[in-house]
Amino acid sequence: MSIAPVRPTVLSFEDARHTVEEHAAQLTAPATEQVDLLAAFGRVLAEPVLADRDMPPFPRSTRDGYALHSTCVSRLPAVFEVIGEIKAGEITEKIPSRIELGKAASIMTGAPVPPGADAVVMVEHTTLDENKVEVTRAVKPGENIVPRGAEARQGSTLLAAGTRLQEAAIALAASAGKSSLEVYRRPQIAILSTGDEIVGITSKPGPTQIRNSNSYSLAVQVLRVGGQPLLLPIAPDEPVRLQQLIERGLDSNLLLMTGGVSMGRYDLVEQVLTEMGAEFFFTGALIQPGRPVVFGRCSASVGGGQGTYFFGLPGNPISTMVTFELFARPVIEALAGQSPKKLAFVHAQLKSEIRVKSGLTRFLPAILEGEFDQATVELVPWQGSGDIAATARSNCLAIIPATREHIPPGEWVSVLIR
Ligand code: AMP
Ligand code: MG
Repeated sequence: MSIAPVRPTVLSFEDARHTVEEHAAQLTAPATEQVDLLAAFGRVLAEPVLADRDMPPFPRSTRDGYALHSTCVSRLPAVFEVIGEIKAGEITEKIPSRIELGKAASIMTGAPVPPGADAVVMVEHTTLDENKVEVTRAVKPGENIVPRGAEARQGSTLLAAGTRLQEAAIALAASAGKSSLEVYRRPQIAILSTGDEIVGITSKPGPTQIRNSNSYSLAVQVLRVGGQPLLLPIAPDEPVRLQQLIERGLDSNLLLMTGGVSMGRYDLVEQVLTEMGAEFFFTGALIQPGRPVVFGRCSASVGGGQGTYFFGLPGNPISTMVTFELFARPVIEALAGQSPKKLAFVHAQLKSEIRVKSGLTRFLPAILEGEFDQATVELVPWQGSGDIAATARSNCLAIIPATREHIPPGEWVSVLIR
């Protein structure tokens, strides 16, 4: 299916995000490679991991205590004959074959509960005297026991392809005996900073020149979502050289450009891409920062197929970071083979009032802090979307809906944490 190009179009935040998600959903997964379990951390799983046995493989005691039959503690206190001790990892021959009514076995956390027992009384609620134990607290059937296979049945899927492998997933793979995993290869993401005033970070900037910081924030963001950044040389605001570098960038799986997408006389990115025959899905979003953000697709050569997706991100450093997070990220995740996921927000109470003009959904650098049920958020004072110093002090983005002009302190607002 092809998606009809719309140009030039300024979309609401929701529509722009939806457009990106629709395109991302159509991307096909990249090639795969086998890597050691620890090297798979942060990568995207390419084949399902199955349970090689029931989990747990036996009814597992979750407490140190006594395994017994719950009906025997309906009257308290109750006294039991202790017929043995079961350690975690106990050899099968030493485990009582059955716990009869009125009997109990001393049992440790992680040890198998023998047949006949349907509950474990915690050691804290017992007193041992020679081979008799007195129980002072009732237990319900099943209490302190995880039944065999309750977490996963042998042969069932523990981890689906498309899962990004964080610590719990790595632990699950380890518990299924996987010392290596099949993961997707990292997509290559070209990064092209544009602007006559932009210089490399190793050269000494002239009085009106600005060091290229966007290529670095983008590279970090690309790495974090599983891409391999490719930093291209800085493009001047001059169409021939700009086109050459865009063509190079289109050889990657995705091209991220920064700068040159606003309304200025030297903002040439859209113009050059139009001449190259690009299709544009949007050329702006009603957001702040990042309103001039561009999303499209272009092939580097005539007859080059459907081409490569690109984003033209506004050059102001915070606009670049925010628009990456809102729009480029889902595309890179899809290129990395990850199953699509919606943006997830947390909520926090605003510390100080916010006054803005309505009409734009705002994603403003803020500080989120607080206790369990007392999360608060406060905007970081800043000089606008070029203020990297203020943004480096923030730990989240506070979201102001496009319809709001005033949010009083104490109101719950949505917060985006990366
Ligand atoms: P532009 O989007 O090209 O109009 O640029 C907007 C602002 O962002 C200008 O102040 C630029 O100097 C600045 N800027 C653009 N590209 C970069 C970059 N790669 N690194 C740091 N600042 C940039
Ligand atoms: Mg510029």
